[in-house]
Amino acid sequence: MTPFAYARAQDASDAVRLAALANASYLGGGTNLVDLMRETVAQPAALVDVSGLPGAIEVRLDGSILIGAAAKNTAVAEHQVVRQRFPLLSRAIVAGASAQIRNMATVGGNILQRTRCTYFYDNEGSRCNKRSPGQGCDAVDGFNRMHAVLGASDACIATHPSDMCVALAALGAIVHLHGPQGQRTLALTDLHRLPGEHPEQETELAPGELITAVELPALSFATRSAYRKVRDRSSYAFALVSVAAAIDVEDGVVRDVRLALGGVAHKPWRAWKAEQMLTGQLATVDSFRAAAAAELADATPQSGNGFKIGLAGRTVVAVLEDLAKEMQP
Ligand code: SF4
Repeated sequence: MTPFAYARAQDASDAVRLAALANASYLGGGTNLVDLMRETVAQPAALVDVSGLPGAIEVRLDGSILIGAAAKNTAVAEHQVVRQRFPLLSRAIVAGASAQIRNMATVGGNILQRTRCTYFYDNEGSRCNKRSPGQGCDAVDGFNRMHAVLGASDACIATHPSDMCVALAALGAIVHLHGPQGQRTLALTDLHRLPGEHPEQETELAPGELITAVELPALSFATRSAYRKVRDRSSYAFALVSVAAAIDVEDGVVRDVRLALGGVAHKPWRAWKAEQMLTGQLATVDSFRAAAAAELADATPQSGNGFKIGLAGRTVVAVLEDLAKEMQP
């Protein structure tokens, strides 16, 4: 591991000030960053420890919830109001990693975790445009079973590994930011980037910007929701495909729906096309199939992951079908 300086921030302004002093990375629970530093994939000159910043979960009168970025994943998943009002988020978090990692990992760190593409971590022997821009991508002609089928580019076919972010995307979460230019908010769906020609630029964060909180706007039908993760083994595995969904059905017609996919793209994939197609339609298997097909119409398989396209479609249909059945009188 490359030597680095360390400083513990007292508050968000202090963190931003400290980070501006050097080539610094913010340190939350360290469950991904420390691995990257051990492999010399990340070599920050300094770490600014933000794990002591606010991590409270504030339940507001309007039905929204504000989660401090330093909140541990376990604390969010087990929070009584989160479980009641946004069960989808609780289930998605519990589907990720192991209990030990969830106890350490923060919400901010989970959002900013890096891809688990094995070539990205192989600093000694593999070419990777994300790690070394312009070097090439060994995943394209390599082992790409876990890689993207939506929104990928010739430069990078990696996926975003978070389960939590898929639920946040479906729930319309808003990310609160604090940076050298002040404070702002951003929809979570606008935070992560598709790879394009610059897979090394993973988010829309400005240099030195820190995630301070995540807001969940009130959503009445979030109680009727599900998170389904399809993976190679039943725990401690990243998603081949995951689906986060919430649906509002009245008299057999879809009044509103939220849908996001994980394991298929460089970012949590909000299924805007499918949502648009479903709204106002009968809540039937045929409608669900048509919406899933529309969402996946532009999916492009790599040499080893064509199965993901059919798997994603079937999982979307199964999740929506189960939710619709639960709502039948
Ligand atoms: Fe690197 Fe992306 Fe290629 Fe993986 S898929 S080797 S992260 S450029």
